[in-house]
Amino acid sequence: MKNVVSMSKVPKSGIQSTFDMTCPRCRKGGLFETGTFAFQKPFDMPDHCPVCKQNYLPEPGFYYGAMFISYIMWGFISLALCLTLVFAFDWSVNGAFLLLIIISAIFFVWLYRISRSIWIHLNVKYNPKVTTTKPVQ
Ligand SMILES: [Zn+2]
Repeated sequence: MKNVVSMSKVPKSGIQSTFDMTCPRCRKGGLFETGTFAFQKPFDMPDHCPVCKQNYLPEPGFYYGAMFISYIMWGFISLALCLTLVFAFDWSVNGAFLLLIIISAIFFVWLYRISRSIWIHLNVKYNPKVTTTKPVQ
């Protein structure tokens, strides 16, 4: 599955586009080259949106901010998971951390991608009328 392109007539909401990991500008072109749980090229993004040609790397180090999003998101998820397991289900701390490590390993690529998707959706404005084929900086 390369450059997933959604051709639905109904426009996606910003939240839906973020979680579908589609282009923030046209909400149709895919942000990543392969599916989240594909083992080939898990971190590769195309240079531009295949539909509207939105530049996916507007400036060097653009995704530095996505690192903070992933840190904050995973910090709260980890805290909530471990506290729930230890205090509500009476798990041992070691057991809770073991499960956390396993879940972290499984969802590592998804977290990386959703953080980048959230970051680019925060920084690029939606334009439903976009039909241009020239690159946008
Ligand atoms: Zn696009």
